[in-house]
Amino acid sequence: MTNKPNILLVYTGGTIGMVKDYKTKALKAFDFSQILKKIPELRQLNCQITTVSFEEPIDSSNMNTQYYIKIAEIIAENYKKYDGFVVLTGSDTMSYTSSAISFMFENLQKPVIFTGSQLPIGDLRTDAKENLITTIEIACAQEQGESIIKEVCLYFEYKLYRANRTTKINAEQFQAFASMNYPPLAESGVHLSFNKHLLFKHEKQKENLIFRKKLVENVAILKLFPGITKEVVTAIVQTKGLKGLILETYGSGNAPTEKWFIDLLETTIKEGIQIVNVTQCASGRVILGLYETSSDLKRIGIINGKNITTESAIAKMMYLLGENLSNDQFKYYFEISLRGEID
Ligand code: ASP
Repeated sequence: MTNKPNILLVYTGGTIGMVKDYKTKALKAFDFSQILKKIPELRQLNCQITTVSFEEPIDSSNMNTQYYIKIAEIIAENYKKYDGFVVLTGSDTMSYTSSAISFMFENLQKPVIFTGSQLPIGDLRTDAKENLITTIEIACAQEQGESIIKEVCLYFEYKLYRANRTTKINAEQFQAFASMNYPPLAESGVHLSFNKHLLFKHEKQKENLIFRKKLVENVAILKLFPGITKEVVTAIVQTKGLKGLILETYGSGNAPTEKWFIDLLETTIKEGIQIVNVTQCASGRVILGLYETSSDLKRIGIINGKNITTESAIAKMMYLLGENLSNDQFKYYFEISLRGEID
């Protein structure tokens, strides 16, 4: 036995573990055991690393709620055995997946850190090595025998973010993610420096982990644009079985004041479908009633998404819909911070 931290590395797929097929030039997933071979430096870290991989690694565009549950189950089943978890997924939907995992676990006392890369691990100029090595170091970081990080995070290009605050902002540059409404939790330079005052504070210490895996998929996101027609909005809100809608509005939560639009939303809310107002802006927040163009939304009882990201909002919606809450409770829980996703 050693007292080095035990880290579980979960590989689900994504560019980090891909190779180029030199005939077709397309990137495809390869055998995960190669990852440790590709980064022998990992053996120098002061921790024990165990790896587990999806049998069939996926491009993160194929991510879905079944895979969310699969990732969360791997963590839950191994929670006691390991000090930290590093989850490798493709970056394309990493903010959605990591946000969902953040809601599925309550009272998380150990780090769960998502990372990936823009270039495959075998590429000469790859960003995979730095991302993976530093992520594992952060997952190992302890103080007085306890993990420093006790929440779900995302590490990319020298910055550690709260996962449910992130958005993928760049398909090309190594700095692929941003957290526009919450500062980084840690930065990696010559030293690893944690912004301790920004880390998630659990209200109740040392409570047991609660794992919830009921996610409701009957949800939609509707992004407004000038010229949107009644037919389109009707088709969305009348989707069979719909239970929740994320409405991406303009600026500080503004939307058309046309009667057909407000009436349609009002009827939808009265039918018990949850509608949440989030802004299309990359940063800032919804302030209902600041402009006349959001006063009607406030009157009809739209839920205020404040400064939550769309990725986090859709994950929170799937999670809260699974909790069988009354309409008032749903609105209450959506508008407060559960995992540090909103303020
Ligand atoms: N298409 C890849 C994925 O999301 C991109 C990446 O890994 O960064 O799976």
